[in-house]
Amino acid sequence: MEKVILIKYGELTTKKGNRNFFIKNLYEMLKHKLKDYDVEIIKEMSRMEIIFTNDQLEEILPIIKHVFGIHKYHVAYKITTDLSVIKKQIINILDLVKFKTFKVEVKRSDKSFPMNSVELSKHLGGYILKNKPDIKVDVHNPDVIMHVEIKANNITYLYTNEYHGLGGYPVGSQPKALLMLSGGIDSPVSGYLAMKRGIKLEAVYFEALPHTSLQAREKVISLVKKLVTYTDKIILHIVPFTEIQEAIYKVAPHSYGITIMRRMMYRIMEQLANQRKAYAIVNGESIGQVASQTLTSMKVINEVTNLPIIRPVACLDKLEIIDIAKKIDTYDISILPYEDCCTIFVPKHPVINPNSEECLKIEQKYDFNNLIDDTLSKIKTITIKDQEEKQYEGLL
Ligand code: ATP
Ligand code: MG
Repeated sequence: MEKVILIKYGELTTKKGNRNFFIKNLYEMLKHKLKDYDVEIIKEMSRMEIIFTNDQLEEILPIIKHVFGIHKYHVAYKITTDLSVIKKQIINILDLVKFKTFKVEVKRSDKSFPMNSVELSKHLGGYILKNKPDIKVDVHNPDVIMHVEIKANNITYLYTNEYHGLGGYPVGSQPKALLMLSGGIDSPVSGYLAMKRGIKLEAVYFEALPHTSLQAREKVISLVKKLVTYTDKIILHIVPFTEIQEAIYKVAPHSYGITIMRRMMYRIMEQLANQRKAYAIVNGESIGQVASQTLTSMKVINEVTNLPIIRPVACLDKLEIIDIAKKIDTYDISILPYEDCCTIFVPKHPVINPNSEECLKIEQKYDFNNLIDDTLSKIKTITIKDQEEKQYEGLL
């Protein structure tokens, strides 16, 4: 009996026209993720199969748990479709499991098999009852479900386990976007959710040395290392933002400081997105969370860019965001107490309903365009690859 990991696709099967594209992306991602293992990956329209050497299973399963586009997966026995072989092998498999109640679930996509699925489950159920003492059928809440999948080309899969994948689309199904990544709780969660839709991310961190510390930068790098476990690599752009912030501090009334600062961030994001061929900006703004995230603020800040701004956590409560942060293991890093550039210049009374004309007036008081160009030319870029972080604890 050959043992394989049987992978069932998530949402991508509903997108008929794009199916090949999604499957290819998932295949490429799995191939990349498992490149250090002795595996063979077979892709079919309805499933994928990973053939592995037995002693690597414990390491491979958590890796699969980090790949978007997978709905469910099973460690399955792959056999030839033959009733007597099926019967013999399900007894072998059930010998390895402790249970008192069971049911058989048959899926038959090969319609040439002489029994239909109801007949076959009854037949196999009866056979199991005869061969194992003291067990009962329970169709509602069985201890174990013996799955039998009869596929084309004489292939049958048998399994009793079921793992839940992350769902979503494989990363790479969508083009690139830039994630504004601060050291906070919200933006890493937003990055995770964006990747779940198949978006390929590059991260951007605005840094205000010496007002912020190098530890704050390290914190952001640690967050990228967590996020990169869901993809192959993430490029991180570190934007030296000190001069712009100091200029804002000089010319803007304090109540407008954050509004102008965020408009400058968006301007830089847009130019960087053009350079990097990215199609959108992703960030961790959540409606109403702080003064700069009221709808009125968002509108005025948003006016400086035409790029779509994706805000995956816009409508989530903080507690819901924290829940996800804990699941993806970024929470403990995010709550480390290093200053973010935004928190340094926080005014006592930030404007809640800023005015566009007022912003433009303030922005004319300084040659910000020149400063933005200069800042863009000083961006430092590092690439973080997934193999650098092999921690898969704290999974969904
Ligand atoms: P977070 O928890 O992600 O830091 P926040 O609730 O603290 O978010 P803000 O500080 O107002 O909110 O920032 C809103 C969003 O703007 C952040 O989620 C992030 O996407 C982006 N952002 C803020 N500061 C920075 C920064 N220094 N570098 C890159 N992006 C930033
Ligand atoms: Mg923040």
